[in-house]
Amino acid sequence: MTSTPILSVIIPSYNEEESIPTTTNRLSELIKKWKEEGKISGSSFIMYVDDGSDDKTWELIEKYYKESQGEVRGIKFSRNYGNQRAILAGLCESEKQGADCIITIDADLQQDENKIIDFVEKYKTGAQIVCGIRNDRNTDSFLKKMTAIGFYKLMNILGVNIKINHSDYRLVSSEVVRVLNKFRETNLFLRGMFNELGFKKDYIYFDVKPRNKGKSKYTPFSLFTLALNGITSFSLVPLRMVTFIGFLMSLVSFLIGISAIIDKYITKNFVPGWTTIVVAIGFVSGIQILCLGIIAEYLGQLFQEVKDRPRYIIEKQLS
Ligand code: UDP
Ligand code: MG
Repeated sequence: MTSTPILSVIIPSYNEEESIPTTTNRLSELIKKWKEEGKISGSSFIMYVDDGSDDKTWELIEKYYKESQGEVRGIKFSRNYGNQRAILAGLCESEKQGADCIITIDADLQQDENKIIDFVEKYKTGAQIVCGIRNDRNTDSFLKKMTAIGFYKLMNILGVNIKINHSDYRLVSSEVVRVLNKFRETNLFLRGMFNELGFKKDYIYFDVKPRNKGKSKYTPFSLFTLALNGITSFSLVPLRMVTFIGFLMSLVSFLIGISAIIDKYITKNFVPGWTTIVVAIGFVSGIQILCLGIIAEYLGQLFQEVKDRPRYIIEKQLS
């Protein structure tokens, strides 16, 4: 382990023309300082991953690439692939370009960028994965806060032990990236993947600032998709639940059947139970559709994985 590792800071960016100038200046300043202090190698760099933006994001990345003589680098996706794949591409390309450790940060610098060096220090003491944990969720709306907490709780119940409030602010070693690259799945949920990999982990606590420019690039729908991917790619519990519910329902209907027979032939006091039938049919078909839905989720995952398509297409690269 060298005491001056080559650090790569990767920034997934989707329509971030408003944030990039400030973010580049701020990060370049910090990196310059840490290089001078001998904390990181002089070959350390910043890598933007333009996730198919349709504003001036790529033009700006080109401009900073020229001005910085390659300290600011970039990858341009052929279309929007989503933040998880942008991060993955940044990790793999940085590893290829010789980085020893790689950290991800959002283009809006909501995560405290001064802490980057603390992540590096943890890396130097032997941690292979250093996860950033948010101190609180005060900058999030009430709804986002609640759904996020609910999601982490649910994941833990389903047997995926991701730390609560761990965002994608994370440093990993090049060794971890090489291993990660062997996992070929298309539906990525990086938090779960890094949990799955093992390796020595450490944690850094940080504060979240309000987004400096522009608005969130995540829609409620894309967050919902991410959450579903997280569940279906790491937990079989929902499938098992389907079996369990099916078993329970059969047992209940068997008992109802027996009581109906008793009513009809022995006690002979049966009333034409129209309401009961309607309620029962509604309830059972509801459960059936729900179970079908859960199975379909996994089937959909399988369908996508089986095609084994490339996870992203890099259209241009500056390095
Ligand atoms: N992002 C991306 N592709 C997308 C959506 C978002 O690369 O399809 C990037 C975005 O540019 C930002 C990071 O992911 O750097 C986090 O997004 P954002 O700040 O909008 O999310 P929030 O902070 O609201 O969760
Ligand atoms: Mg943000």
